[in-house]
Amino acid sequence: MSKRIAALRKIINENKLDGLIITKQQNWQYLSGFSGTNAVLLITGEDNYLITDFRYLAQAAEEVTGFHIVKPFAVIEDTLVEKVTELGLKRLGFEDDSISYHVYSSYRGKLTDVELVPLHQAVETVRQVKDTAEISALRKAAEIADAAFDDVLKLIKPGVRESEIALEIEYFMRRKGAQKPAFDLIVASGPRAALPHGVATDKTFAAGELVIIDFGAVYAGYHSDMTRTVVLGQPDRRQRDIYELVLRAQERAIEAIKPGVKCSAVDLKARDMITVEGYGANFGHGLGHGVGLEIHEKPGFTPKDDTVLEPGMLLTVEPGIYLNSWGGVRIEDLVLVTADGYEILSKSPKQLIRL
Ligand code: ZN
Ligand code: ZN
Repeated sequence: MSKRIAALRKIINENKLDGLIITKQQNWQYLSGFSGTNAVLLITGEDNYLITDFRYLAQAAEEVTGFHIVKPFAVIEDTLVEKVTELGLKRLGFEDDSISYHVYSSYRGKLTDVELVPLHQAVETVRQVKDTAEISALRKAAEIADAAFDDVLKLIKPGVRESEIALEIEYFMRRKGAQKPAFDLIVASGPRAALPHGVATDKTFAAGELVIIDFGAVYAGYHSDMTRTVVLGQPDRRQRDIYELVLRAQERAIEAIKPGVKCSAVDLKARDMITVEGYGANFGHGLGHGVGLEIHEKPGFTPKDDTVLEPGMLLTVEPGIYLNSWGGVRIEDLVLVTADGYEILSKSPKQLIRL
């Protein structure tokens, strides 16, 4: 039995369940290896079932080990109901934030003598700590992003459109083996750099502007995430000062990362430094987030997340300062929590690059 399934069995026991249904795509992929887009898992105290539709039966047979693959009668929900009834399960856990009200109502109506128990982020909590295979996929995803950044620098100059840079990065990453970009690429220049999520537009770069580039690659299902801010030409005093402040805050936060430390304490390391310099209100997002099969995962480096860091957790560290109509600076690395500290997976240079 895999470690991942063992963790699920523990959840089943702790909640005194007869079984657990998994309806969220990333979670069924994590547990079974199945990468199709329509499935439900039923995990009982003894056995594992994967129900998928006709289109995916061959794919499931290829990708999945340790599960009975159940052929559907019609829709997978009806097949699940049949299976639950056949096995005589009475207390069934479900993922409360991945099942629609419609599907829940249908189960409620058909499984009349089954108690449905909502579980919140149960698999996501297991997924917080990455195993060796996951870490190597994340490492490769970060490597592809680093190579793309190095490649694209020569193209960033006044007159070039943000969208051209986004396209070049995407093309490069896919040529290097990425399945797709981790999210819509952010290329935000000049005043647009004040938008923390400024997806690339047709705006052209102008001399003297700061450009925030935030992107990542998906490799073997795993996402990388990195941000660099560059300047076109010579930075002015304010651009230099704000850049240096963000960089110092980022490095200070990273240095605090090790097992046993609370996520909120890491956020505070960067936030305090930025606040003392008078830019607290201009750093309006969390310091970072977990990354894995999803681009945003638990835990988070936020003021309210008191999750204690463990080896194998992997998060971004991405402080930013944004000033309306002026622009912004953000620097983001992927950081792995190791047995005695941290390892930065993003290798791109962090001094202010002048183009
Ligand atoms: Zn990012
Ligand atoms: Zn991020």
